[in-house]
Amino acid sequence: MHRSRSRRRLQRVTPKRRSVIHYRRRANSMPHCAICKAELNGITLSRSGGRSRRTNSRLFGGVLCAKCTSDIVKAASRIEQGNMKLNDIGIGQRAFVLQMLSH
Ligand SMILES: [Zn+2]
Repeated sequence: MHRSRSRRRLQRVTPKRRSVIHYRRRANSMPHCAICKAELNGITLSRSGGRSRRTNSRLFGGVLCAKCTSDIVKAASRIEQGNMKLNDIGIGQRAFVLQMLSH
């Protein structure tokens, strides 16, 4: 625990003037889109309130950004209609399209 940098090191002086290091957990980072890595909107890190208050209830809410979600929905619909093939989609998006098609 003391050798890794997952915890923040804080230099502190005790009342007896000894210099010590305190270890604190780092603050949680904001969630990012799984495809384009953009910071997700409409999400709060505070744990107060119900789940719908903390994240959005959209398709892939809390995983993908709104733009990437709309691209996935379009691609899945086009494949279902036969206007597009699964190989035309990038490898990063393919797993999400397959997830939509399986439902
Ligand atoms: Zn995205």
